[in-house]
Amino acid sequence: MIENMEEFNTEKVINEFEIMTKDAGRIQTETLRKILEDNGEAEYLQKLGLNGRTDPESFKACVPLVNHSDLEPYIQRMVDGDTSPILTGKPITTISLSSGTTQGKSKYVPFNDELLETTMQIYRTSFAFRNREYPIHNGMGLQFIYSSKQFKTAGGLSAGTATTNVFRSQQFKNTMKAIKSRSSSPEEVIFGPDFYQSLYCHLLCGLINRDEVQFVNSTFAHSIVYAFRTFEQVWEELCSDIRDGVLTSRITVPSIRTAMSKILEPNPELADLIYEKCSGLSNWYGIIPSLFPNAKFVLGIMTGSMEPYVKKLRHYAGELPLLSAEYGASEGWIGANINPKLPPELATFAVVPNVGFFEFIPLRANIEDQEKGELVSDPKPVGLTEVKVGEEYEIILTSCGGLYRYRLGDVVKVAGFHNSTPELQFVCRKNLLLTINIDKNTEKDLQLAVDAAAKLLANEKLDVIDFTSQVDFSIEPGHYVIYWELSDEANNEVLKECCNCLDRSFVDAGYVSSRKVNSIGALELRVVGRGTFQKILDRSVKLGGAVSQFKTPRCIAPANKGLSQVLRDNVVKSYFSTAFV
Ligand code: AMP
Repeated sequence: MIENMEEFNTEKVINEFEIMTKDAGRIQTETLRKILEDNGEAEYLQKLGLNGRTDPESFKACVPLVNHSDLEPYIQRMVDGDTSPILTGKPITTISLSSGTTQGKSKYVPFNDELLETTMQIYRTSFAFRNREYPIHNGMGLQFIYSSKQFKTAGGLSAGTATTNVFRSQQFKNTMKAIKSRSSSPEEVIFGPDFYQSLYCHLLCGLINRDEVQFVNSTFAHSIVYAFRTFEQVWEELCSDIRDGVLTSRITVPSIRTAMSKILEPNPELADLIYEKCSGLSNWYGIIPSLFPNAKFVLGIMTGSMEPYVKKLRHYAGELPLLSAEYGASEGWIGANINPKLPPELATFAVVPNVGFFEFIPLRANIEDQEKGELVSDPKPVGLTEVKVGEEYEIILTSCGGLYRYRLGDVVKVAGFHNSTPELQFVCRKNLLLTINIDKNTEKDLQLAVDAAAKLLANEKLDVIDFTSQVDFSIEPGHYVIYWELSDEANNEVLKECCNCLDRSFVDAGYVSSRKVNSIGALELRVVGRGTFQKILDRSVKLGGAVSQFKTPRCIAPANKGLSQVLRDNVVKSYFSTAFV
């Protein structure tokens, strides 16, 4: 752990990573040994009869693959206050709430100091590789980071999103100091209780420090796009605050007002400059470098469910490079981005071999077995160094946070190796999103369909701001419904074409054959009014979700009455695809 900020040394961190990844197989065995030794007392492991053995073979023979639901009874006991060693040797005192956006409900995941330390290691590794390519000196960042509310569970454990648990920790503050990275906003803004007020003040602090800002970042790309969409609405108010040195009365949280009063002073020159820059832009292209002339890059997770926001982010970022941040989950970390120059579409994550013990279920082998009619009740995972380039896998995690052989639910593809550790591309969440009968479509399939159809809007200079989907069984036969929010009004002919294009872009054999015989009905495109997806975000925030971890749900189960209602209430037009041939 970095205690002394003077000690951070980019080359040293890279060197350590090189040494470790040259010996990834051995490091994995050691990491597993350490996890099992530290947690040997845990009831869960005791029950499985490991009897103190810590080698990978015994581990795989004794410990089953599990899903989150298998561990819920154990986690619930901790949440309720049972302090005996249940999943970990040391009792768990903190719980992370994973975003769970895809499932529609947050999951509770144990969080501890060891997980925090792996988080810092990933941050340091990514930072070192990034810093080598894009050095920043005493770097101030305009960081759209937010802490969600922390609360106590019935049993007295602190609970918050993983990002909140990390941002609040002393280790995080030490690491940020060590890499000399500071936010342009004071802590009161980051930890403010009202997301919208924090966002406004993040923008204001960034503008006040515009010459010092060297990068713009957030956990997920969505938050950066959201921030600059908000900027488009509030820039005149921001200018007026800067001009008069008085914070708008819309900011009502006392701690934020006090903190901002120390930063804000009348600066008509700056206000004029920003005013001029904004009025001169016709479509906000390149607004980020225009406002922050010394920014070197924009950083955030841009892969997976964040891919749909990359286009808009690129628009705001102009010529600035977009850098993909690391890969992990509330359950544990997986990989660092050691090739920061790769564009988000090609980003890979080198697995850091000492942050967990990793196994991979080959997906193609399972599909082949299924095709041969064999049941895949017992998928055979391979080890970290045994994966093959070009193959797709489901990732299995054993962490220092009490998860053993845990199916994270992510599908990754091996793009190559860095020394002997694989570099992974994120493919999608494993959950099927859209399925009516024999059709199977994932988040990725939906995104490809939306990308293809959205191209038809390009001539009209329109964008899909956000999208989601649903299966509608209310009329026979069931059919797919795709919801789109558009940047402006589109004409009916174009939207009809988009609807047909969506229908034809789901190419899995199950969908195509079912459509041909009409056992799946015509696809329906429902256009929702401007601001609908904002309402979805608002709802998530109201229910205690964290903006830092917000991911638009790409499929809304009909049983999710609340969200279904928001969508239904906001439909302005709908179209059905024409007959499928
Ligand atoms: P959460 O449940 O909020 O902890 O989110 C964790 C999930 O976010 C992971 O399991 C992935 O599906 C997704 N995720 C995290 N990092 C990345 C990344 N770099 N690229 C794509 N998806 C990611």
